[in-house]
Amino acid sequence: MGSSVNAQCKCGYGATDLFIGGGMSNFTTFCSFPIFCKNCQQLQLTNLLAKHPDCPHCQSREIVAYDEDELQQAPGNDIVTSWNVSDRLGRILQLTDGEYLCPLCKEFNLKFEEGDMHWD
Ligand SMILES: [Zn+2]
Ligand SMILES: [Zn+2]
Repeated sequence: MGSSVNAQCKCGYGATDLFIGGGMSNFTTFCSFPIFCKNCQQLQLTNLLAKHPDCPHCQSREIVAYDEDELQQAPGNDIVTSWNVSDRLGRILQLTDGEYLCPLCKEFNLKFEEGDMHWD
């Protein structure tokens, strides 16, 4: 059910196999999605369906999901991945091929692309 994305920035920052979504058995309570943590300034994955989503690195709740406008400069034309949690979060989580905030250089040069991994 879930899929993965890779993230790559011109500055050299990269992250591979970022899991998006949930599994067959836990998709009602678990949705993995990339977030930017304002506290430790990192891109991390967290469970957005948790009661209080936080940064797995520093446990801060000062996090912004990567589908939020403040992390995107220009939306892309194509959807790289999407995950429908509209019944729980009121929106469809999606990443496009647009330009996103890089956690390292803080420029809007981060690009997501479809990863190789699919999981259930
Ligand atoms: Zn953090
Ligand atoms: Zn960068």
